[in-house]
Amino acid sequence: MAPEIPKEQWAQVFEKTGGPIEYKKIPVQKPGPDEVLINIKYTGVCHTDLHALKGDWPLETKLPLVGGHEGAGVVVAKGDLVDSIEIGDHAGVKWLNGSCLACDFCMQADEPLCPNPLLSGYTVDGSFQQYCIAKAAHVAHIPKECPLDGVAPVLCAGITVYKGLKESGAKPGETVAIVGAGGGLGSLAQQYAKAMGLKVIAIDTGDDKKKMCEELGAHAYIDFAKSKDVVKDVQNATEGGLGPHAVLLVAVSEKPFQQAAEYVRPRGTVVAIGLPAGAFLKAPVFGTVVKMITIKGSYVGNRKDTKEAIEFYRRGLIKAPYKIAGLSELQSVFDKMEKGDITGRYVLDTSK
Ligand code: NAD
Ligand code: ZN
Ligand code: ZN
Repeated sequence: MAPEIPKEQWAQVFEKTGGPIEYKKIPVQKPGPDEVLINIKYTGVCHTDLHALKGDWPLETKLPLVGGHEGAGVVVAKGDLVDSIEIGDHAGVKWLNGSCLACDFCMQADEPLCPNPLLSGYTVDGSFQQYCIAKAAHVAHIPKECPLDGVAPVLCAGITVYKGLKESGAKPGETVAIVGAGGGLGSLAQQYAKAMGLKVIAIDTGDDKKKMCEELGAHAYIDFAKSKDVVKDVQNATEGGLGPHAVLLVAVSEKPFQQAAEYVRPRGTVVAIGLPAGAFLKAPVFGTVVKMITIKGSYVGNRKDTKEAIEFYRRGLIKAPYKIAGLSELQSVFDKMEKGDITGRYVLDTSK
């Protein structure tokens, strides 16, 4: 029997860039022919959601907007053309809500590069609501044995860092520096790196984050606010002082994007993932050339990366800590995030 779908639901909405965000009732939408309607049970809060609210990036959001793109829930309705997923299946709303599936990039499964993407919680309404629409071709398929609160952060943070680690080319036994290791992406990156056989140098600040990184198995923790010379400290934490084979930049400030090329090992790779407002990457030309460094960006992941990242979670390899709050408490989560006070991830329960 088809589940009963209410006409109205709770959501977090903002009418203009900069806010305020308002917790209120809005209508439940009907899915189009190639779409599904997902009853979101839990949704992670990514720093991207805060960038969207603040208007940090040179890309406009839809307004009014329901943010959120780490939504895990149950399919409750689907369009006539959908045969890849059934009502009752567990599914996830991720950043890439939809893409054209016909351009050169989509054809080669590089759909995050599609020139006409639909972005959840940015250009289309996302998962900070109880019922969310997504294109059936792109929703994440979540095995029933995965708890929906725990798997929610995998839907953006997990997929993104898993893809970033693959893009880094780092091999088992090698060392990766994770910059912003104490945050949402950073905590998951440490778990994926460990599962992939990499050694981790965690870089962030504060004792709470230090404790978490140590519990997650980091080989070394460097507090960027206490260190007198981050570049030296990172190099000294590696064998022979040569520097890490790869650097994953998931921080939300510009400075580390200016330092990574200095401490990465010769032949190493710097992967930029974090998106601080107005920031630039900087690297000395001399050092980049004579050390043969690669500097690249990495942007979410495709459908296969999604499936693989969830499979790591299903196998019990990804145990990053998260705290649960109610959907109604989103503003207070943003306040903590703004101050850098969140260790790991916040996941919102949409029933509260
Ligand atoms: P978060 O707020 O949970 O974590 C950011 C961490 O960076 C914090 O722990 C903070 O203390 C740390 N940090 C700040 N300055 C630092 C410095 N100088 N050195 C080391 N660490 C520092 O944020 P999040 O949700 O993990 O997102 C991180 C960034 O990644 C955001 O900019 C987000 O928009 C971006 N993002 C990018 C992609 C992508 O596809 N490229 C996907 C998701 C998120
Ligand atoms: Zn995100
Ligand atoms: Zn496309």
